[in-house]
Amino acid sequence: MQITKGFKYRIYPNVEQAKALDHQCFIYNQAFNICLNLWKKDYEANKDLPKEQKKYLKAVEYDRLVKLALKQRELPFKSVTTQQARVNFLQAIKRALSKEILAERKRAIQKASTPKQKAKALNIGFPNFKNSKLAKQSFNWNNQGYQILESNNKHFKIFKLMNMPLKMRYHRDLPKEYKLNQITISKSNDKYYISLSITYKQEVKQLDKQNLDSNKCVGIDLNINDIALSNGELIKTLSKKINAKKYDTTFKRLQRKQSRRILKAKECKSKLGSNFKKTQKQLNKIYERSSNIKRDSYHKITTKLTKEFDLIVVEALKNKNMTKRAKLKNVKAKSGLNKWILNTSFYQFTQMLEYKQKHNGKFFVKVNPQYTSKACNVCGNIKDNLTLQDRVYTCEECQTTIHRDINASLNILERGLKSFGLGISLLDYKTSALQLQV
Ligand SMILES: [Zn+2]
Repeated sequence: MQITKGFKYRIYPNVEQAKALDHQCFIYNQAFNICLNLWKKDYEANKDLPKEQKKYLKAVEYDRLVKLALKQRELPFKSVTTQQARVNFLQAIKRALSKEILAERKRAIQKASTPKQKAKALNIGFPNFKNSKLAKQSFNWNNQGYQILESNNKHFKIFKLMNMPLKMRYHRDLPKEYKLNQITISKSNDKYYISLSITYKQEVKQLDKQNLDSNKCVGIDLNINDIALSNGELIKTLSKKINAKKYDTTFKRLQRKQSRRILKAKECKSKLGSNFKKTQKQLNKIYERSSNIKRDSYHKITTKLTKEFDLIVVEALKNKNMTKRAKLKNVKAKSGLNKWILNTSFYQFTQMLEYKQKHNGKFFVKVNPQYTSKACNVCGNIKDNLTLQDRVYTCEECQTTIHRDINASLNILERGLKSFGLGISLLDYKTSALQLQV
């Protein structure tokens, strides 16, 4: 099987190298912004013309004009960086003009009632100007002109790019043979990284769909802070207990500090000083640390699930439904970072599950989420009066009594097996799940 995957390594540039990398990030942003300006002009000029008279700039013309603009500003640049910016920019535009995004924009425009909402709706999907002052910066490089060399420390290698030997922490091996697609150099809160997007062949023993072991099939009901499995297990989505409140309190305190400073700067018409920047860095660090805790936790849980199960079924949840779901599940009104840490990022979680299943030759299925909570997993009766507070599902038709989320996960599994065209008997699960104390 061909696998495309990103390998990310931390690099430790010296002062001079860091300066050069920062400059390329800046050039990347500038090139991207120049493209955006060119496109906007193009778009305005073509807007009212009949279709056959519309004329758009070609990729080479974008490249030429970007280089010209940078030269006029006497900015030294690498053409690989500006070209990659143009490639990414045109891809972003292509996405913004796709049927899907077009439909989304149309819906939002119809919904908008104020001019401000309308302006926002008109912009949905279109790229924004890149800001070189943000804590996160990056630039792309193509698949050429790099070298990976040994260093005298076994934990490190030398990544040579733009004639710079960059010290790279080599924490995981690259596959023996691979094709490099693209290099991304990124900076996040003063730490530098190199990501290699590579394609490689991996021997994956694909499981046989028809011979799945019913004990190794599972339906998962994702909730705000736990997941319910159809075998009756409930798993917390944060594997270790973390003091989210502590993060939150510090975060809020620093945020208040910042807003006071912004207010003051506005009043005195002065610029924000170095203290503002310092605090902003602290804020970013807290956010980054809690992101890492979440991601590590998800990795642990999803790896365990993939080891244990050959078929995993989840609900196909769209972003919009998730916020609604958070409300529906009546989570205590927490706000800010605290809420963000404790609440499961469904998208991230299911993405991980999906690729881990795939890379192990196993199966992953998403099913329609309608009525998974309200339907009885034994007789199929729909319980319309199931309220959000009900933690136990009791069916009036067949008297089944079961934990509500486990009932949902059984429905999810059944739907998954059906869509998969499999007739595995669910009887075994149901009896064991039903015996659980509710
Ligand atoms: Zn029933």
